[in-house]
Amino acid sequence: MTPAATVVGTELRARCSTCKRTQTHVITSISGKRIDQIQCKICSKARKYRAQDGAEAKAKRRLQETAVPPEVMWKKLMDASSTKKTIVYSFDKQYQVHDLINHDTFGLGVVTSLPGPDKARVAFKAGELLLICNR
Ligand SMILES: [Zn+2]
Repeated sequence: MTPAATVVGTELRARCSTCKRTQTHVITSISGKRIDQIQCKICSKARKYRAQDGAEAKAKRRLQETAVPPEVMWKKLMDASSTKKTIVYSFDKQYQVHDLINHDTFGLGVVTSLPGPDKARVAFKAGELLLICNR
């Protein structure tokens, strides 16, 4: 079996058409290595995941939606990082807070917390994501 970077149950930030704002969504379906369906955690509305959901184009819209835009948070964290060494993301690796992650979909990110033994919260330019690790 091919290891996938994204798994069902992973949380991500995406725009919800029902809530009319950026909400935390949960991946409910994966097609190959791509995210297929996501579900809003607030209103439970399910929809197809679009490639541009994680793209930079949406970051502009988010600037108007959130008090602290993820892009600004991300920039701050990147600037504060003492290491310039990036780790290519893989779900079987172990990470530490402040590690720089290079994700093939979301780009560069900084580990902000480790909520569980196999979970890492990572701030990307497009927003914060909960990634599976240490599997
Ligand atoms: Zn919603």
